[in-house]
Amino acid sequence: AKAKGRNTYHFYSQDLDEAANERLYIENELRIAIKAQQFTLYYQPQVNSESGEVLGYEALIRWFHPSEGNIPPSKFIPIAEATGLIVELGAWVLEEACHFSRRLKAAGKTANISINLSARQFKDAQLISTLSDIIHRTGMEPTLLHLELTESMLMGDVEAAIIQLRDIKALGVSLSIDDFGTGYSSLSYIKRFPVDILKIDRSFVKDIPEDPNDMEITAAIIAMAQKLNLQVIAEGVETEAQMAFLAKNNCYIVQGYYYSPPLSEAEILRFAPAM
Ligand code: C2E
Ligand code: CA
Ligand code: CA
Ligand code: CA
Repeated sequence: AKAKGRNTYHFYSQDLDEAANERLYIENELRIAIKAQQFTLYYQPQVNSESGEVLGYEALIRWFHPSEGNIPPSKFIPIAEATGLIVELGAWVLEEACHFSRRLKAAGKTANISINLSARQFKDAQLISTLSDIIHRTGMEPTLLHLELTESMLMGDVEAAIIQLRDIKALGVSLSIDDFGTGYSSLSYIKRFPVDILKIDRSFVKDIPEDPNDMEITAAIIAMAQKLNLQVIAEGVETEAQMAFLAKNNCYIVQGYYYSPPLSEAEILRFAPAM
């Protein structure tokens, strides 16, 4: 706040609302947390609903702050994104998930690992070298690595996005469109992007079987994805009825509380069945 006079200053300092203060607090704490290694990854199984096999895991970041306790990603990822801290944090996520993949393999539980990529990371000119560096350093099998992007990240400079996607795929890595159906793109648009998997957003799944519109949309997404030769994963599957509806409409890969919440590595190594 600029202090021109007493009253002006008073006005501005009152205007600094709680939300802005919290943002600043989290930004400062994020810088500390990266150095102090307060982050960990949890992994949510992606399950074949017919066989019960775990096909892969989505890595989801967790922040256990020493005094605040658990701070959810919805609170800090947007701030990490806005400040650019996500590039460093995202590189840590990639590296940690690749090491996890090696430990899974060593335990005889080989599975795909999906990692969320933020817009900032996707647009980063260093992304390809960072990725290939991490893959080589960790010995990660690149065909097991899936990167999740959202539709909005692909809009804007479409040609640049296509080049970046091709360069990622050239490393042997697979690509998923996350939260599918919530962005601006249509399936005909998606056809231009070299992606492998669509993840149906939880907002369509959550009111199945009560909401006929959501059921129509979900069935249409699955049908069109099949025509485009894309795999489909449904996210946020919480009930048997949802799983059954999806299976009836040819979506057999599901992720959600019905099967499992995100788990710690220790829990996975103890309990999760092999692929
Ligand atoms: P997302 O990628 O859409 O991840 C799915 C979110 O839904 C996760 O929340 C997961 O815990 C939650 N979820 C899974 N199954 C169910 C279910 O059956 N019901 C309900 N209600 N929720 C379910 P989480 O872990 O809090 O992550 C929130 C978002 O934060 C993620 O949404 C993703 O956009 C972002 N995020 C998480 N980890 C990372 C990361 O390492 N990097 C980046 N860039 N973003 C991340
Ligand atoms: Ca995701
Ligand atoms: Ca998602
Ligand atoms: Ca989501």
